[in-house]
Amino acid sequence: APSPKPQEKVKQTHQDPPLPRQNSKTTPPSPPKIITDKNRLLEFHRVGFLGEGGFARVYEVKDVRGTRLACKVVTKSSLKTKKAKTKLYAEIKIHRSLSHPNIVRFQDCFEDDSNVYMTLELCHSGSLMDMLRRRRRFSECEARFFIVQLIGACHYMHTHQVIHRDLKLGNLFLDSSMNIKVGDFGLAALIENPGERKKTICGTPNYIAPEVLFDTANGHSFEVDTWSIGVILYTLVIGRPPFQTKDVKDIYTRIRDNVYEFPAERYISSDCRDAIQRILTSDPQQRPTLLEIIASPFIDLGIIPGFIPLSAHDAAPDFR
Ligand code: ADP
Repeated sequence: APSPKPQEKVKQTHQDPPLPRQNSKTTPPSPPKIITDKNRLLEFHRVGFLGEGGFARVYEVKDVRGTRLACKVVTKSSLKTKKAKTKLYAEIKIHRSLSHPNIVRFQDCFEDDSNVYMTLELCHSGSLMDMLRRRRRFSECEARFFIVQLIGACHYMHTHQVIHRDLKLGNLFLDSSMNIKVGDFGLAALIENPGERKKTICGTPNYIAPEVLFDTANGHSFEVDTWSIGVILYTLVIGRPPFQTKDVKDIYTRIRDNVYEFPAERYISSDCRDAIQRILTSDPQQRPTLLEIIASPFIDLGIIPGFIPLSAHDAAPDFR
């Protein structure tokens, strides 16, 4: 039976972590106030907490020059199994090999006795998930801007043989100029031989491609990211994911049967609707390529803003 990651959490905070629970095995001790990279003789001052994911906690740190970075901390106690170690090494190997303006920059990784640390580019403005919660939904112009950047990052990954496999609003961070930075390579896979298929069932329920769940014999490949881009586009303009229901099993049934609708009360241009419908094609071989999406009328004929103003955090900008 499929056992993907728990559904994308609705609450991701950028505030302080909850107070440590005494005697709780699930709350690891905080990393030191000054984190030291002994080999490179570097020090990072921990200045804030940014968030926590499946197996890591992410802090804001400052290097000696005062440059602010994100620091992803994985406790060694959570790396006791070979599987957990292999997974972390894969994430590091893949993430550090990528360099693109729309991918969170991987700076370094190092360890001390208690933790493994990854220093990353700091994304000041949270994730698109946080922003969607404030805005409820985005205009088609904004969606186009984000999707073009996301496709740029994704095309770069794919030409470097990397499938992200967990593209979702919560993993699309924003820098201080509202540019997309794809992050969290925890589920990414490297395709080492041409034609190789991946068989692990992974992803986040709302965003998972049908072939991941229902064609386990054949496996899946790069097209799973394209599917997630379709789910992301729908979510940006409608305000909630297309296959969403309370029960995860029902989400999977809807994904299998390709059942979703465009709510009548929301105006969506026919080009946008068309793009979404074409991307959410069940058969991965029939799904458009990333370049075909870029050439679609929705992207090609629409206005793509040169930048998105910071005011867009709270209200739709006017791009006419
Ligand atoms: P996991 O791999 O454990 O799921 P993530 O990489 O998703 O962890 O990070 C968990 C949380 O930390 C994110 O939801 C986000 O709030 C925050 N975060 C992660 N990376 C950054 C970053 N580069 N800049 C700012 N915040 C970040």
